[in-house]
Amino acid sequence: MSRRPFVAGNWKMHKTASQAGPFVQELAVRVPEHIDAAVCVPFTDLAAAVAGAAGSPLKVFAQNMHQLEQGAFTGEVSAAMLLDLGVDGVLIGHSERRQYFAETDDALRAKLATAHAAGLDVILAVGETAPQREAGETESVLRRQIETAFAGLADDRAAATTVAYEPVWAIGTGKTATPDMAQQAHAFIRSLFPAAVGERVRIQYGGSMKPENAAELLAQPDIDGGLIGGASLDIEPFAAILAAAA
Ligand code: PEP
Repeated sequence: MSRRPFVAGNWKMHKTASQAGPFVQELAVRVPEHIDAAVCVPFTDLAAAVAGAAGSPLKVFAQNMHQLEQGAFTGEVSAAMLLDLGVDGVLIGHSERRQYFAETDDALRAKLATAHAAGLDVILAVGETAPQREAGETESVLRRQIETAFAGLADDRAAATTVAYEPVWAIGTGKTATPDMAQQAHAFIRSLFPAAVGERVRIQYGGSMKPENAAELLAQPDIDGGLIGGASLDIEPFAAILAAAA
């Protein structure tokens, strides 16, 4: 089954709202046909990014979301708040959220279900740390992250989720998984789903993907796109990766 490529940029804590609007407007006209593209932007940039992407195929995602509808959760943002701004989706489970903000697999299961119920698109990031890879634990870590997050989710919602495989040791380090290494992890992640779901789930690779290595990674049969950090902060490298995916 052929899966439509999906490339998303993750700005992390970069760009103000006044920078985001013009940047997104310029990027929006560079999205090639036949792929999906998104930018995951800070909460404060969402409205400007939605306005900048209006009428274009570029989607706007948040970088996190609370799992509950509303309540006494100072500093948090709900799915309804994102939808009300015209946001298309949400990135959850990025390793920086797991590492610095104690995001757990159980919380991610609730976030995944809440986001789908609200009608948001979802990218769920998973991946092993360097010590886990060195200890031979890559597959058990991926299995735990995927099985916990997807537990109880209906098959059509699971199939509509995008998984981002991001080996933590490759994020922002300039170290990229080799295409073979990435392909092996992607095939393993796909195998964790029932076959009819696995063949539809899109799996992005993330971890120092750049214009120079994108084509080789994206050529792997189980790599359906990319989640791009550093190289999504400027138009030209990100547009080059979008072109490689197309
Ligand atoms: C990321 O932020 O998800 C990421 C993959 O970053 P980078 O491309 O900079 O490694």
